[in-house]
Amino acid sequence: MCSAPFSLNRDGHVIVIRAGHLEQINRFAEQAYPEECCGLLIGRDDGASGLAVTRVAASPNVAEGRQRDSFEVDPKLRFDIMRALEGGPERIIGHYHSHPDHPAQPSARDTAMMFEPDLVWVIISVVDGRVEQVTAHAWDGEQGGFREIAIRSG
Ligand SMILES: [Zn+2]
Repeated sequence: MCSAPFSLNRDGHVIVIRAGHLEQINRFAEQAYPEECCGLLIGRDDGASGLAVTRVAASPNVAEGRQRDSFEVDPKLRFDIMRALEGGPERIIGHYHSHPDHPAQPSARDTAMMFEPDLVWVIISVVDGRVEQVTAHAWDGEQGGFREIAIRSG
């Protein structure tokens, strides 16, 4: 990616996810249960009003043999999307994954897998097959940990 990095550490940063996109994400999370679902969030940086999701791209969970407690977005899907977005106003602003029967908070594994501080992590808690909570998190480089950010529906 050749675009400027986001400044996710701005105070009060939010991610805007329209109801339709949130419903899509929730449906993927419930369909994948009891495994983790995952996918990419495509959108724009709208400056002071936050990051806005414009598209949701579901990915197969390619985490080898551990789909119940880990996830990995298909690298080919990501590559194809990045190439399609090149030169346009949108880019990959984050990803989502579900936590079957676990809270919608980053796990120790998530923290260990945090390689890209510019991406927002959306986490969906699915309990007994139903979505219970959706949260968003940004990496706080100063604190060396995730920080929850607000989700606003467009
Ligand atoms: Zn997780």
